[in-house]
Amino acid sequence: MNIALDLHIHSALSPCGDNSMTPNNIINMANLKGLDAIAVTDHNSMENVPAVMKLGSKKGMIVIPGMEVQSREEVHLLCYFGSIEQALSFQHTVYRNLEGENNPGFFGEQLIMDEMDKVTGHNHGLLIGSVNLTVEQIVDLAGGMGGRVVPAHVDRKTYSIISNLGFIPPGLDIRSVEVSRPEDIYRLLRQHNRLKLYKIIHSSDAHRLEDILERKFFMEVEEKSISGILAQL
Ligand SMILES: [Zn+2]
Ligand SMILES: [Zn+2]
Repeated sequence: MNIALDLHIHSALSPCGDNSMTPNNIINMANLKGLDAIAVTDHNSMENVPAVMKLGSKKGMIVIPGMEVQSREEVHLLCYFGSIEQALSFQHTVYRNLEGENNPGFFGEQLIMDEMDKVTGHNHGLLIGSVNLTVEQIVDLAGGMGGRVVPAHVDRKTYSIISNLGFIPPGLDIRSVEVSRPEDIYRLLRQHNRLKLYKIIHSSDAHRLEDILERKFFMEVEEKSISGILAQL
């Protein structure tokens, strides 16, 4: 079956995410837009994912536990997992490789919320920073925990695997890449021939509620579930 997704959404936990990106607002907006599945992918953390997953299961929305990790090379990688347990053990390793403290006045607040949108804490780490792991290490680590990695916004000039490494390392265990602007895909394919080897997915990278995708990007899945979607990534 064909389902509509948006697999790159930031919550109020990301310093750059709007504080209105609460668990309830994200789920309600995704429902309004008619999506079948979403992923919440905050920078280097997934502490709001449990609340969004709980709400998603009540409202019939598939929520994939995810994170947008920034590698040592400043490459953004979307990491998706089959269960919250796998995701949280990945988070544990990411935290061990993340240094520095957030400056909320400068970068923004990093709010942790429950399924009632109550702020239960603040993350004090420098979530906007890089983790001390290479692209290859992150792909191996996530893969070892049953996750799939998708390089984020490969069409952008910053924080993308193509802009920062110049190419996608051929041995890297990835099958899909994300683009921000699907209208530019033909230009991108002309410039980077090897991109043809990958499945192209499109997500919003929403930091504000109104930017969550409409029913615009679809995926053919055998089963409408987290594992059904992961099998296509
Ligand atoms: Zn990014
Ligand atoms: Zn992002």
